[in-house]
Amino acid sequence: MSYEAVIGLEVHAQLLTNSKVFCGCSTKFGAESNTQVCPVCLGMPGTLPVLNKTAVEYAAKMALATHCRINNKSIFARKNYFYPDLPKGYQISQYNEPLTQKGYIDIEVNGAEKRIGITRIHMEEDAGKLIHGESYEDADYSFVDLNRAGVSLIEIVSEPDIRTSDEAVEYLKALRDILVYLEICDGNMEEGSFRCDANVSVRPAGEKKFGTKAELKNMNSFRFVQKAIEYEISRQIEVIEDGGKVIQETRLFDSDKGVTISMRSKEEAHDYRYFPEPDLLPLQIDEAWIAEIKSTLPELPAEKRERFVKEYGIPSYDAGVLTATKELANYYEECVKKYEGQGARCKGQEISSPKVVSNWIMGELLRLLKEDGKDIAQPSAFSIQPSVFVKLLNMVDAGTINTKTAKEVFEEVYKTGKEPDAIVKEKGLIQISDEGALIRAIDEVIAANPKEVAEYKAGKEKLFSFFIGQTMKATKGQANPQVLNKLLKERLAK
Ligand code: ADP
Ligand code: MG
Ligand code: ZN
Repeated sequence: MSYEAVIGLEVHAQLLTNSKVFCGCSTKFGAESNTQVCPVCLGMPGTLPVLNKTAVEYAAKMALATHCRINNKSIFARKNYFYPDLPKGYQISQYNEPLTQKGYIDIEVNGAEKRIGITRIHMEEDAGKLIHGESYEDADYSFVDLNRAGVSLIEIVSEPDIRTSDEAVEYLKALRDILVYLEICDGNMEEGSFRCDANVSVRPAGEKKFGTKAELKNMNSFRFVQKAIEYEISRQIEVIEDGGKVIQETRLFDSDKGVTISMRSKEEAHDYRYFPEPDLLPLQIDEAWIAEIKSTLPELPAEKRERFVKEYGIPSYDAGVLTATKELANYYEECVKKYEGQGARCKGQEISSPKVVSNWIMGELLRLLKEDGKDIAQPSAFSIQPSVFVKLLNMVDAGTINTKTAKEVFEEVYKTGKEPDAIVKEKGLIQISDEGALIRAIDEVIAANPKEVAEYKAGKEKLFSFFIGQTMKATKGQANPQVLNKLLKERLAK
């Protein structure tokens, strides 16, 4: 029997507000434990929460970017539970009437577009953090750090529209890209500012009814999300095949073993005793403010990707890579502008200048950044100014250096920050286009390989590339490929 998985994701994104959601405490990451706390976020009796307006604005931005409806009136609710990282004994969240509902995003998986529904996006506060066994002398203590208690979160709940682990990862990446483009979340999964719980169930192919779901937690990278979901799908299929029943529960992903482990049977919502937060008024948002927020939205990743395809005529794959971050996209556009501004066109080649720039960025720049473990989103990641980048392309167009040499020079520019022409001069890398010099090199190769020459003349034409290779080697890779090609044909025809 074949099975189909059904997956719905709950994502918590920490908002980049300077202060917490219901008090004025700083949200700066990495401060000494319990230095960013006050009576409100410590849950002292008699204190009152005051809503952070910027947090609402950020949540609304995400709603608009994901085609959600923003409710003009929404209600904060208390979600009651006990845990040592939650001093109040309840978390302020939203329940029945969340800030926003009913949106979607489109993702692309294996070339096919798919729409994933978003059930709701609601606002809530984060809990503190427990630190286990990091005591001064003894590992038997647990500590609580409440710097994070009360930090603004949004929870983005998806419809159970996802069917595979690939779709889940694409959905998460798309969500994260949107949050980062909006500059409302740093998207850092390792530090926990972008966290995901995955609800997974399976059902026989063709069945309409959903199976019982398990909720997976503790996955702090895209790769772990993928692995955890895949493991869980096969575990549930096995349970059913063995005649058992999947039970509704929360399971933790163990990244060392690559398995999910039962943590607790799932609480029902009524266990939380949600009720409207009596210390906060209903949140009212008027259309004028929504319109104002809408007018500040930047171009989003999907829009940028589409525009790149239209405007620059590059493949949608390239556009996807180049728009992965706003910084990379801006860099690409600046390079294209400079390159085209100089009237540069790859002479005699089919390929357009925007595609040339794309090839260089995707092929060389991203490769080097990856080797260094650097991130293009960090402005300090590399220091090749667009004008310098374009200088190098100009040198290839002018025939000063060939493409192969240009790649070496590019790496040198990347590593040293020197100007490309200085590197070319210093290392004597100028391309050899001089026919006399090339003919000398070719004749030496021909003289040294009589057997291959005879075979070539007898019709073994694929040996041509052998002669190209030998002559390139003899010229240390600096031969002008077009000129070399032409001359070699002539000499071999003699
Ligand atoms: P809960 O009350 O247990 O948190 P919700 O109905 O709020 O459950 O759904 C939480 C998440 O689980 C949503 O993302 C939803 O799409 C997803 N979900 C609901 N039912 C299933 C199911 N049978 N299989 C997989 N995911 C599901
Ligand atoms: Mg849930
Ligand atoms: Zn506080």
